[in-house]
Amino acid sequence: MQYQFLKQYNDQIELLTDSRLCELTNDKVMNNGKQAMYIPDDHQVNANRYTKALLESIKRRNVERCYHTEVHHIESLKQGYKVKTQNGSFYGKKVIVAGGAWSGRLVSPHLQSHNVTGVKGEALLVEHPTLNLNTTLFMTNGCYIIPKLQHRYMIGATSYFDDYSVGVSSVGRDWLLHQASTIVPQLKDSQMLHEWSGIRPYSKEERSVMDEVAQDLFVITGHYRNGILLSPYIGALMCEWLLTGQRPEDLQDFRIERSVDNAMHY
Ligand SMILES: Cc1cc2nc3c(=O)[nH]c(=O)nc-3n(C[C@H](O)[C@H](O)[C@H](O)COP(=O)(O)OP(=O)(O)OC[C@H]3O[C@@H](n4cnc5c(N)ncnc54)[C@H](O)[C@@H]3O)c2cc1C
Repeated sequence: MQYQFLKQYNDQIELLTDSRLCELTNDKVMNNGKQAMYIPDDHQVNANRYTKALLESIKRRNVERCYHTEVHHIESLKQGYKVKTQNGSFYGKKVIVAGGAWSGRLVSPHLQSHNVTGVKGEALLVEHPTLNLNTTLFMTNGCYIIPKLQHRYMIGATSYFDDYSVGVSSVGRDWLLHQASTIVPQLKDSQMLHEWSGIRPYSKEERSVMDEVAQDLFVITGHYRNGILLSPYIGALMCEWLLTGQRPEDLQDFRIERSVDNAMHY
């Protein structure tokens, strides 16, 4: 089904024979009787470097960033908004709430907390000096293996709904290592370098929310497993919206109130 869905948009996608799978993965993958699919134009970014680049970019534009400052409340004024934080208040004519899984708390009652919830995810970074796997592998159970520079492999990711805890659990670590080494047996001998967890913002039926919930008060959340990937484009669209006052065409379908037939499919 996923093959048919993706094939509509990318004609290059192919279902792989066993020999073609061996060829593409340097014979490192055990498909265990499962069908494999190849997506030629699937690329990756280094999220760590990307985030640093974004920080550098806002610094160059003299944007001030307040670290470790929790917003407690957003109050509507005659003109604009007062954003009350633990370190005093800020005023803005236009305000965008991009609080991830916690956004509902800040723009209630426009967006109820239960409409966007948190899905905890865990990931591992391992090293294997001789594996020589150069292709990203995605499994349909949510596990993936992404080759990185210097013989490193990122293994992700678990999903726990409504779990806001911090840190990688032993259950999660074991699941990731087990799933990854079932597909790439040599990963059993890899060395663990790093592990981390985060909370993905999940919206009902996986529909992102990008809306103006009251005049000049915007909320952007619910991008679940794709928030990093989509961020440059969404940033550009939001910039256009703020500057022109017109909702961009590509954001028409992301209102909080929507008809039932325009769900996003990830
Ligand atoms: C293990 C894992 C792997 C992932 N892999 C990918 C991937 O490969 N590709 C991809 O595109 N996406 C991936 N994601 C998903 C991606 O991280 C999210 O979609 C993205 O971070 C959502 O961005 P956001 O800005 O909406 O929310 P967040 O990144 O959650 O940012 C919201 C921020 O707002 C802060 N905040 C909340 N409330 C307040 C408040 N009251 N006051 C002040 N600050 C507040 C939070 O502390 C947080 O820092 C992954 C996520 C996880 C956990």
